[in-house]
Amino acid sequence: MHFPTIGDFYQRLLFLLPFSANLLPEGLRFSYDEPQQWRHIYPQCGGSYQSPIALNSRKAIPISLPPLNFGHYEEPFDELLSVRNNGHTGMYKAAGNMHYIFKEYPVIFTVEFRVPTTVLGERPYLTGGLLGDFYEAMAVHFHWGSSQRKGSEHLLNGRRYDLEMHIVHRNTNYQSDEEARNQTDGLAVLAVLFKVVRTNYPHYQPGLSEILGSLLHLGDFNSSYTPAAFLTLGSLLGNLDRGNFYAYRGSLTTPPCSPAVLWHVFAEVLPISQLELPKFWQLRDRRGRPLLNTFRPVQSLEGRQVFQRRPPSEYIWL
Ligand SMILES: [Zn+2]
Repeated sequence: MHFPTIGDFYQRLLFLLPFSANLLPEGLRFSYDEPQQWRHIYPQCGGSYQSPIALNSRKAIPISLPPLNFGHYEEPFDELLSVRNNGHTGMYKAAGNMHYIFKEYPVIFTVEFRVPTTVLGERPYLTGGLLGDFYEAMAVHFHWGSSQRKGSEHLLNGRRYDLEMHIVHRNTNYQSDEEARNQTDGLAVLAVLFKVVRTNYPHYQPGLSEILGSLLHLGDFNSSYTPAAFLTLGSLLGNLDRGNFYAYRGSLTTPPCSPAVLWHVFAEVLPISQLELPKFWQLRDRRGRPLLNTFRPVQSLEGRQVFQRRPPSEYIWL
């Protein structure tokens, strides 16, 4: 297997030459076609504490973790969102400098929006659960499948679901994404799984409906769209049971796969209409190809503990 050698060669080259991402061989690009190859360029993808994982309600350790506290989640943002299709199947191209691309940039191929501040002047934040600090909401993005495959990243009780939303938060003790990625408690991601349902009515996550409505305007790579409504971050969650969640220590699910994430995955699976889900499948990447199956395979648990917080009433008889 000579692949790592080639990877090493190009990685060294990256530090020397600012040149176009297009010059790299296809095999070295970040692609969901071959996620097992990511580790050759991003070594942490082959390391420990990797995500996603398969969650199981019978194997998770039931404990009375503190509830999550959703600070400013119900306050309207002070500006309109800009939802962007930044879908690449090739490597992320930023600033034309390969060192920057490989080592610094959080590469995510998805539909994403940056979380603005609320009308109170601060971003929404998260505390509680496994978190010992304040974590500011930074960005929201999605992972999906195709008409042939379901696309959630985490499995729940042996099932893959149709869609997964990630709300990425950064520990306020750290000043940059890069600094946070190098700490074991740098990031907190809230994950929500969705299951497609046969209904023609949009569902009761009003904020999410606005985001999904943007998708039809985001067909082409690097396009963006601004929904007209002033949303709240909490409106993406609708009536979700926020008290019941799985929690474990893991990683980013995209390169560089930093083991810096305290994951909180809600146990309740939200519905998404059969009319809404296919809007993800019409998105196109940089080369005009369909942007499909944007999920990483499940990773080994390797002795990690997975906790499940349930409402306190369920512990009274224990
Ligand atoms: Zn994600």
